[in-house]
Amino acid sequence: MLIDRFNRKITNLRISVTDRCNLRCFYCHKEGFLSKKCDELTPDEISKIAQVFKDLGIKKVKITGGEPLVRQDIVEIIAEMPEFDEISMTTNGILLEKYAMDLKKSGLNRVNVSLDSLNPEKYRDLSRGKLEDVLRGLEAAVEAELTPVKLNMVVMKGINENEVNDMIHFISKYNKDGLNVILQLIELLKLPGLESYWFDIGIIENRISAIAKDVRVRKMQKRKQYLIDEGAIEFVRPTDNTEFCYNCNRIRVTCDGKVKPCLLRNDNLVDVRGLEGEELRQRILEAVNLRKPYFREKIEVESRIKNCAVNGAVNSTVSGTIRGTVRGDLLERSGN
Ligand code: SAM
Repeated sequence: MLIDRFNRKITNLRISVTDRCNLRCFYCHKEGFLSKKCDELTPDEISKIAQVFKDLGIKKVKITGGEPLVRQDIVEIIAEMPEFDEISMTTNGILLEKYAMDLKKSGLNRVNVSLDSLNPEKYRDLSRGKLEDVLRGLEAAVEAELTPVKLNMVVMKGINENEVNDMIHFISKYNKDGLNVILQLIELLKLPGLESYWFDIGIIENRISAIAKDVRVRKMQKRKQYLIDEGAIEFVRPTDNTEFCYNCNRIRVTCDGKVKPCLLRNDNLVDVRGLEGEELRQRILEAVNLRKPYFREKIEVESRIKNCAVNGAVNSTVSGTIRGTVRGDLLERSGN
């Protein structure tokens, strides 16, 4: 079992297989990593790294991107993965109709499909994609039993916060004979430039909790799942959430083979490409050792700055630190 210095058990691995994407969602955090041009890991390299994580106690793997389905060898990647309790994928769904059945046959257990709007024009404005492709992909995923599908909706002020009821109604048609589609409402991560779109999904959570028939608390980041007549709804609230970090059980691998201890920083990546056996194992343990709850550190740095200001002078080095830790590290984003 992998346990970090803050006594957090690490059971989930997120592997980014590419940073290419066939959409251009304006708010995208790109899994916190963007290389100049990613020299993507091969299916064999992915499988070897995953095997060592499995030997170290990882139970669940999520394949992510960029958009994982733009890789033409995606079915091979899944087929070569070692067995885990669960292998899932997060996808924008655009190419899912084509791949759903083959992915299931190769060992994929379920998918998350990102869908922020059911309005075709709005969906196109947000992502530059065609809504009907995603809807066909979702149908194919349910048909292939890549279930429960989680529908990931990032809730944004002035954009789609008024569409949550429509989305709840939409999932209900899939949940007549069991829980096939779960709605996952995600709070926008406030990247620089996105602050005005941030919406407090606690407001929606309060409303849903009042009508819920049952509530389950998931191990992962203590997320709550509310059961209502239409299905199930989960809430993901990472923003400034120390609780979220204290319960973080994830570690990541980038598309070019670096272990990434935290979504929100890029100054502690550990390159494992080309390594095997004991050397690979040791480097992974090194990366685990670098894990720190991000929002705790952010709060500590912010309070140090506040104290400096109260004392009459804002120390420029500390201000530099907060920019470095909280903003600069956050993402090496080109584009938006
Ligand atoms: N292309 C795949 C997809 O669409 O699911 C995988 C990559 S995408 C970066 C993974 C998830 O991160 C998506 O559900 C997306 O909505 C979410 N996401 C991206 N940027 C975000 C942000 N700024 N705040 C919150 N969630 C975000």
